[in-house]
Amino acid sequence: MTNEAVGNFVLVEHFKLKYADEITVSKWRSRESGLTVVHLDYSAPIVKGYFVVATEIFNDSGCPHTLEHLIFQGSENYPHKGTLGNLANRAFATHTNAGTTIDYTAYTISTAGSQGFLQLLPVYVDHILWPTLKPAGFTTEVYHINGKAQDAGVVYSEMQGRENTVDVLTARAQQSLFYPKTSAYRSEVGGMMEALRKLTLEEIRNYHATYYVPHNLCLIIAGSLSTETLLDTVNKEVEPVIAAHGQAKGPRPGGWRRPFLETPSAETPKIQGEKQTETIEFPEKDESAGKVLLTFVGPLPNAFLERKAIDILGTYLTDSPVSPLTREYVEISSPLCARVYFSQDICASFCGLDVEIDSVPTEHLETIDERLKGSLKRIVEKGIDMERMRVVLKTGRLKLSSELESNGGDRFYLDVIRDFLYGREDGKELQASMWELGYYDALDGWSSGQWADILRKYYIDAPSIVIRGKPSAQLADRLEAEEKARIAKQSERLGPEGLVRLEKELEAAKKENDAPIPAEVLIKFPVPDIKSISWIPVQSVRNDSDKSLVRLTEELEELAKHLAGDAADLPYFVQFDHVKSEFVSVTAYLSTASLPDRLRPYVAIYLSSFFSLPVVRADDTKLSHEDVINQLKKGTVSYNCGTGVGSLFKELVRIDLKVEISQYEFAIGWLHDLIFNAQFVAERLAVAIAKFQRILSEWKRDASRIVDSVLGSLTYDKTSTAQAKEVTALIEIIPKLAQDIKESPEAVIKDFEELRSRLINPTGLRFSVTGNVLAVNKPRGAWSENFPTPTETALVPVPLSKDTLSPLGKNPVKKAVVVTLPTTESSFAIHITNSISGFNHPEHPALCVAVEILQGGESFLWKSIRGAGLAYGANILLQLESGLLSFQLYRSPDSFKAFEEASKVVRGLADGSIVVEETSLEAAKSSLVCALARQVSTPARAASVSFVNQALKSVPQDHGRRTLEALQKITVSDVRDAIGKYILPLFNSSSSIAVVVSGPAKVDEIAKGLMSVGFEVEKRTLPGSA
Ligand SMILES: [Zn+2]
Repeated sequence: MTNEAVGNFVLVEHFKLKYADEITVSKWRSRESGLTVVHLDYSAPIVKGYFVVATEIFNDSGCPHTLEHLIFQGSENYPHKGTLGNLANRAFATHTNAGTTIDYTAYTISTAGSQGFLQLLPVYVDHILWPTLKPAGFTTEVYHINGKAQDAGVVYSEMQGRENTVDVLTARAQQSLFYPKTSAYRSEVGGMMEALRKLTLEEIRNYHATYYVPHNLCLIIAGSLSTETLLDTVNKEVEPVIAAHGQAKGPRPGGWRRPFLETPSAETPKIQGEKQTETIEFPEKDESAGKVLLTFVGPLPNAFLERKAIDILGTYLTDSPVSPLTREYVEISSPLCARVYFSQDICASFCGLDVEIDSVPTEHLETIDERLKGSLKRIVEKGIDMERMRVVLKTGRLKLSSELESNGGDRFYLDVIRDFLYGREDGKELQASMWELGYYDALDGWSSGQWADILRKYYIDAPSIVIRGKPSAQLADRLEAEEKARIAKQSERLGPEGLVRLEKELEAAKKENDAPIPAEVLIKFPVPDIKSISWIPVQSVRNDSDKSLVRLTEELEELAKHLAGDAADLPYFVQFDHVKSEFVSVTAYLSTASLPDRLRPYVAIYLSSFFSLPVVRADDTKLSHEDVINQLKKGTVSYNCGTGVGSLFKELVRIDLKVEISQYEFAIGWLHDLIFNAQFVAERLAVAIAKFQRILSEWKRDASRIVDSVLGSLTYDKTSTAQAKEVTALIEIIPKLAQDIKESPEAVIKDFEELRSRLINPTGLRFSVTGNVLAVNKPRGAWSENFPTPTETALVPVPLSKDTLSPLGKNPVKKAVVVTLPTTESSFAIHITNSISGFNHPEHPALCVAVEILQGGESFLWKSIRGAGLAYGANILLQLESGLLSFQLYRSPDSFKAFEEASKVVRGLADGSIVVEETSLEAAKSSLVCALARQVSTPARAASVSFVNQALKSVPQDHGRRTLEALQKITVSDVRDAIGKYILPLFNSSSSIAVVVSGPAKVDEIAKGLMSVGFEVEKRTLPGSA
């Protein structure tokens, strides 16, 4: 672009990123309104938007966060709540979202293709700059007291689930000790519960008027569209509206001070003496472990090279079992913590450097920070291991290229946000902030001494703030008693009449919010054509165990020719999925179906130690676990293992290595030796087991994890490997294993040998190659040379979770379990029922649309539950693999109340008393289009979906697109039928079961509610947290 200006927009800065010249960056500012627009231009099927406001606040009222929620409640031109979400759905967008951090609020959107994006942009900005901010929205979305005298509201529930967690409590203590009294960085931007109970709409309105102004707003657009067209849209549809509001006052109106930079927040903290410490308590019945947080004052935010060096040092110190700190603190038989984590908080005049030490045994809480400093000193005295440092730098570089391939310019959105907040106004720091590869080049030349200097300067010789988070059972009890007393007092203060009045007010607010959106507003917005989306082509060929090649994508023949040209004998299943890429991944899938049940829980430990066991290579070279990690780090971009793919096929163990194309054979050789030739040694297994003991103490506090796990223990039987890896199973097995590995290590090792011998059963082995297969010389030969076993064997079908259902899972009736969890104040619930199973069920399209209509953005559940402040999240999940359908409530003040409300809505939809409008149907369909486009939006994802569809789901490669076509035919009456037949049974105790995890204060009430609708309720506590 040679023009200096397009309409009001003056070009501030413009460059191509040198290491990926397909990314062009341009930054523009309106001379009239001061609005900033940044375009990261690169080719990709998805266009993303980040609309950013610098949100500085000097108290804990939660104005930035509550405002973020209210923005979506309606705007001047689109006053009806939900219009934005509905229009987004029509425009092939996933539903709009937002997030508030300590220094900014970002509103996000992603659409399939650019047409929908440009349609939505002015509507979104209308919401951000001119929201209605009405009392009814405040009531439901922020805070209210319900008819039971409970405090509720979406934001309130959200913060209730967070406020007393160890992470938040230590962060709060750090903020108030570290930052000067006048600094905005001390604030809880989400809002403290106590403050939220007092916050008024007036305060939020005033906050909006001050900060949500065009000269404090930056529109970041990442993706493929013409910059001119983008600016034209803003010039024609946004700028005139700003001017009409009298807000076009130029980039720097009189009296305006840039948030953070030109306010007291710019002051750099001064730590008194060598260190300042504080110990805080957090509620936890299990008092065995806590957390320590260290903070140091780091470099200037624009010291990009130094900041990259600090980042690399954090990786060097902690990224793998051979990193100095991980080796010393975690990879030992009595770990001192579960992990050490280095991070940077970028502020106006400096970066805060945090070191988080998680799950520290209580007896070490007081001493671990000094110990850590001692370790860092020793590391510096011994000298940085430059060979490892070179590997860390090389891997960092490769990961960067891999991310660029996946995310394109979107990789840099955070740099653009920080530049908007803290960078020079003339844009001259933007390019430097993105120039990562340049910093890698510079760091390649650093000496051991230079690295040591950084560690000394910022960590060893620097003063620190140390916060110790100590578990307290007493505090858990006290908080519970206080909360009950507060509610009782509140109930008394309000009296029966007061409560009735509040309930009425709430109903009135809901009614006002629910006023239907006039159809013409929606219809005006054309739904883009599905054909306008470009899909990434994937060529797919399978090598079967009878050595034949099967071409899976008929129209593309290049790959088939390439594979046929490599006439190697390959007597097992390998599927090749080719996409344009600089990388190639090899993956093994191992079936757990034939494992003895008693060994299933061992899979968790096997996988956690998978890449850190000694190995005897095929050529008899013996490698220590350190050698193994070093070689893998050196030769790969990444390596991972786990069970399943995403949430599916959890009965399969998955191992994958991603490498540069030249390392294809290396990857296959290692895949083989890691699976077949790893040595189970007592010491390494003891380390893995001990790590689990630490991690379990965290998992036991995680309500979402527990609700899943307890439900799984009801619905799956002992033959489920997925369930054997869950927290409820591990709580039982890990302490015993820890004992056994000390007392009879041989027996434990024998068990692991048996586990592996079952996993490598050739009837359950499948392999996948994804990435640039065409660039590989011997795509098949590399396997036959480096992966000699297994031999010709017929495969048994892919094991499915459906095969592991318990009697209650097959017939979910009446049972409900309510678990008390002291570390949360809200409740989490899952209700399940039977549904359709299989990936190609004829009723799937109708049910899929029905689920989307119920749970998509601005849909029925969203409105009646989230909108009414009954829970932060409500979802319906169709699990085709198990044939179960679940209704999930996330962070709810009272999950039973939310369940009842959902039940009313679903009944209404099923009997037709609540009508599904054509526009909702269209929106649901179109939002499913975007969801699908995102699943295959990068080369790596497209190749992986091709494998999963054909090899695991046994459906065609383009099954997703075919489903989209089938969806288009679904009618309103199909949806109503699907709701009645499949979703309604979720809300009937005679065809469903439920698990609720709740803070102690609400347990009795929720249990009573469930009993009142026919559930047989059992109350539980987790072992060790009673
Ligand atoms: Zn929120």
